[in-house]
Amino acid sequence: MSQKTSHLLPIIPLPLSEAQLKEIVEKSKDWVLMHGISMRPKTQFDEDGLRFLPFVLIPSVFPRKEFEKACEMQSILNELMHKVAHDRCFFTESLKDIVKVDEFTRNLFRIYETVVAEGLTQRVCLGLLRSDYMVDCSYNNKIKQVEINTFSVSLGGIGTNITAFHRYLLRELGHTDTLKNLPENNALKGLCGGLIEAWKIYANPEAVILFLIAEITYKICDQRLHEFKIREMCPQVRVIRRTFTDIAARASLGPKKQLLIDGCEVAVIYFRTGFAPEHYHSHKEWEARFLMERSLAIKAPSIHYHLAGTKKVQQTLAKPGALEQFLSDPLKVAKVKQIFGGLYSLDSDELGEQAVQMAIDDPEKFVLKPQREGGGNNVYGLEVRDAVKKMKDSEERTAWILMERIRPPLTMGYMVRPGGNKVSQLVEVVSELGIYGVVIGDAENITYSKQVGHILRTKPATANEGSTSSGPGALDSPHLID
Ligand code: ADP
Ligand code: MG
Repeated sequence: MSQKTSHLLPIIPLPLSEAQLKEIVEKSKDWVLMHGISMRPKTQFDEDGLRFLPFVLIPSVFPRKEFEKACEMQSILNELMHKVAHDRCFFTESLKDIVKVDEFTRNLFRIYETVVAEGLTQRVCLGLLRSDYMVDCSYNNKIKQVEINTFSVSLGGIGTNITAFHRYLLRELGHTDTLKNLPENNALKGLCGGLIEAWKIYANPEAVILFLIAEITYKICDQRLHEFKIREMCPQVRVIRRTFTDIAARASLGPKKQLLIDGCEVAVIYFRTGFAPEHYHSHKEWEARFLMERSLAIKAPSIHYHLAGTKKVQQTLAKPGALEQFLSDPLKVAKVKQIFGGLYSLDSDELGEQAVQMAIDDPEKFVLKPQREGGGNNVYGLEVRDAVKKMKDSEERTAWILMERIRPPLTMGYMVRPGGNKVSQLVEVVSELGIYGVVIGDAENITYSKQVGHILRTKPATANEGSTSSGPGALDSPHLID
């Protein structure tokens, strides 16, 4: 293993001429804005206005074999996450130290323990998952998993539309020969198909799908794309949008613990908020979460799926012998092992001490991660050393995991961002691929499992993280190369 960096050539000769670039960028901005690749602006917020999301003009290259591997992996990961989510012992053991030091995980775990002790009202779970990968030059350009998301997976709607955008763009530029290398993307249809399937399992044609949302929704387009697609695919289903505050104030449980709000019975709850401590302003939001978890509604995700998506569980699964507890087929185990990079706990034991030392000796080789989602929480570069040194004598360190840093290959791309008429610059970029999965089942059986599409996010090679809504990231499509 070495720390080499490789370069992938762009799919068409770059740079474009200044005149061509100006014309195509102008047109592209309008295309994406008009097809919901947009959000409400965070600065100068306007409920009636949209701004396009940053995007990469020419789709970035991605190795075909690795893309196909990521897609094939998804059915195994669906099975794995479903089984992990239903294994109480595994959870309790994985999270036992974290719950002592991390209040947020402790609150989630308390809800989990209570609903399990009461006996689950709804045994069926709906997992809408996204497994994220980067190609790693240190491992001969093979994909390594960044993380698997089980809560509030987003960009399925926008991802589907960005594929359509890049098809349009390549035609506009006269490169129709390259279209065959843009894989089909039905993420939106697939994710909505999962929500509809769960609604059918609930078997009350009058019941609704509830989107749990924040007080202010910036990412309105991605959410509404789901809502509109559900109506299109299954016209009888009504979607309602409610906040934690609405649930706390007006929701109740019926005689069979049906979740009732504003005259509606809720068949399915799709959480688009609730993954970060700041989403719970007071005990009321926690009570609302508890009420939903105790209810008969099918949750996407239920609390045990939420906990299965924590970074700590990801790290525990990378321990020797862990995967074998869930996957009986050694071939599947081997495939999952291939996508794991180095993952280490910082627990107060011999292995934890070794990890602390590795981080201090060679901090740039690692990323330090807390039990948080949504970006902006990890520690990179030399700061890893400082952070580890600071926490090394406190219990807090058990709330973090150490992960080997992935070194993705560099390629060149034009990033187009909203704001002003700045000329797009050709910059060195790196990409992260997300593969969506849908899984439905109960503790005994999986009744529905699909890989349903993808999203590519690209960021400047110099950036640590690449949020597309608040960071330097941009939406992209993989152009597959052999
Ligand atoms: P979050 O839950 O905040 O999304 P992630 O684990 O996905 O946490 O990390 C956020 C971002 O940080 C990723 O999208 C990726 O760009 C970068 N990142 C995370 N882990 C690694 C890693 N091991 N190597 C390189 N970059 C990483
Ligand atoms: Mg992530």
